Amino acid sequence: MTDLLVIGGGVTGAATALAAAARGLRTVLVERFPPGHRYGSSAGPSRIIRLAYDDPGYITLVRDADRRWRDLQQSTGVRLVTRTGGLDFGPAGLPSLRATAAAMASAGVPFTTLTGAELAERFPQLRPDPGMEGLYQPDAGVLHADDCVATLLAEAARHGAVIRHGARARDLRPDGDGVSATVDGQRLRAAAAVVAAGSWVNDVLGGTGVALPVTVTREQVGYYEVTGVDYTPARFPVTIEHQAARPYMISMFPELVPGGGIKLMRDKTGPEITPEDLSGEPDQAGLDLLTAHARRRLHGLGPLLHAETCRYTMTPDADFILDLLPGRPRIAVASACSGHGFKFAPTLGEIMVDLATTATTPHNLHPFRLDRLDR
Ligand SMILES: Cc1cc2nc3c(=O)[nH]c(=O)nc-3n(C[C@H](O)[C@H](O)[C@H](O)COP(=O)(O)OP(=O)(O)OC[C@H]3O[C@@H](n4cnc5c(N)ncnc54)[C@H](O)[C@@H]3O)c2cc1C
Repeated sequence: MTDLLVIGGGVTGAATALAAAARGLRTVLVERFPPGHRYGSSAGPSRIIRLAYDDPGYITLVRDADRRWRDLQQSTGVRLVTRTGGLDFGPAGLPSLRATAAAMASAGVPFTTLTGAELAERFPQLRPDPGMEGLYQPDAGVLHADDCVATLLAEAARHGAVIRHGARARDLRPDGDGVSATVDGQRLRAAAAVVAAGSWVNDVLGGTGVALPVTVTREQVGYYEVTGVDYTPARFPVTIEHQAARPYMISMFPELVPGGGIKLMRDKTGPEITPEDLSGEPDQAGLDLLTAHARRRLHGLGPLLHAETCRYTMTPDADFILDLLPGRPRIAVASACSGHGFKFAPTLGEIMVDLATTATTPHNLHPFRLDRLDR
């Protein structure tokens, strides 16, 4: 019998399948869409990995995940991470910047505080407003998202996991001392399951009587041509502009591919959608706002080259849900998005296998338990 059924082949499910198979567990991962699909939250060329968090708990998790990404890059020879350094900037004294600096200081993360003048001098790409400050952290970088997911799945398969694409799991429920779900009309039994179904989590949990308090939004990114200014990874770090009002964060990526443009995004500004709304149409009004801000903030910005959409699965407090379903100890659920889950995947994979197989883990999951959201 299968030891672990993993539902969902995004970055969280893929990392879970690798962690399980590497421990010698008989593992089956089912993914409803074909390899490389763009309907979920894990597709695209890039994601930020950073230690600049306002919560030491997340810093501990990122450090562990960062080591695991580097080990995976080393063992497979696939380029998964590009170090660029990371910059967080905004109005001096902004609470989110202060909290980030305090958390990094308490966690012993090396960083430099830059005055407005130092910001403009060190990063000539930027046009900071008067009275801004920055936090520079050298270890941040870009995760090559599509390659990360493909490599996790390939390594899981190399360790013996069965990876089934185009296989949608339905009617998951406890079954005897294990679990079962219907996949392609067949009942698939396993000793335990990890649900890593992203925005479809409640669709998958429908048969268990448990629903997670998540909201799904369609977010978008724009790629802009740049001329006459150096935005290469060696010169332009992954950058987050903090604001006092929504969008609280605007993220900016270096130009990873010559001529490919820089990637920009206004965080958490997308419309709420239903999980089955697969239309990925960008929102022109949102892009116009992004373009207007980028023109004000950045030198050498040319036209929008193209835009992409992707979805966030938001919890009410933007923290993850990493827990066993109440009263169903053989079903573990990972809702690890809220717009910032990708970087943690290798560590979350280990945590989910711990939970599903032993109901415990050495990691502190208190902030991620489901019942914290009980009304
Ligand atoms: C625009 C954007 C920018 C982001 N930037 C960053 C960043 O810079 N840094 C960062 O760390 N994070 C970032 N994130 C967040 C990060 O990408 C997500 O947290 C992460 O990808 C979530 O992965 P997942 O595996 O949980 O979900 P998904 O990737 O959505 O995977 C869930 C999978 O489950 C499958 N599935 C669903 N139902 C079923 C079923 N019934 N049967 C079988 N399979 C099923 C789906 O097809 C899907 O492939 C960003 C997200 C977006 C959208």
